[in-house]
Amino acid sequence: LRRHRHRAAVVATALGLSALTACGGQNGSGTDPTEPAAPPTAGSAPGATGSPKTPESPRSGDLAGKRIVIDPGHNGRNAANPGYINRQVDIGNGRKACDTTGTSTNDGYAEHEFAWDVSSRLADVLRERGAKVRLTRPDNNGRGPCIDQRAAIGNEFEADAVVSVHADGAEPSAKGFHIIEPKAVAGVNEPIVEKSHRLGLALRDAFKAGTGRPYSTYRGTRAMDPRDDLGGLNLSKVPKVFIECGNMKNPEEARMFVKPDFRQAVAISLANGFAVYFRR
Ligand SMILES: [Zn+2]
Repeated sequence: LRRHRHRAAVVATALGLSALTACGGQNGSGTDPTEPAAPPTAGSAPGATGSPKTPESPRSGDLAGKRIVIDPGHNGRNAANPGYINRQVDIGNGRKACDTTGTSTNDGYAEHEFAWDVSSRLADVLRERGAKVRLTRPDNNGRGPCIDQRAAIGNEFEADAVVSVHADGAEPSAKGFHIIEPKAVAGVNEPIVEKSHRLGLALRDAFKAGTGRPYSTYRGTRAMDPRDDLGGLNLSKVPKVFIECGNMKNPEEARMFVKPDFRQAVAISLANGFAVYFRR
């Protein structure tokens, strides 16, 4: 099913159509994604869905000296380079497209823009707390890198942990966030599965506590979704997970993604999650 959906996404991308699959859609809107975000409203501010507790408050020392790679999903010029991103690369248990365009809100705020902004904010927070941080791309104005290269960057940096930042493109009624963790592939990624699971739980709990967002209504169990079809996870030799921060096609979440305050809350939450992971 996933393979079929993936193939459909590739075909749709090649045709320049919008594909409504996880991270596989394309920003087909002409709306300027840099337009100023609407001011936060009381009803939809981060944490407005309750009073989230921080079960374990992180200490700054937990991040000092830790090597963390942040992988902002997709890239701003992927859509303009279909030949580059559609070429097939090895993903450990098969082959898959180098990269995809990602999805967007219906108003044209692109996933790659969101992922880049959150990742930049997260890098700042982690560096302030003493971590050594590397990003898998230098800006949001290029193409790729391919998913195998994104994994290689974490491996070569000998990262203590890696997070790949995404937002999903699911049916409009679906909402909530989830973690994608590596599912064991024999002889490929078994050494990182358990640590990645612990990393995923720490980031999940911190994200929920810090943003007040609900677990995904459409993927995973309690927001944890093990997968073996992602090159970025299969090829990692260091603990790594993806986070899908919500559904860009859901109107409520679309309004949230464009708010800088929300993106800052995401960054701080993820930094707190890393601190908890390293303390355990
Ligand atoms: Zn994505």
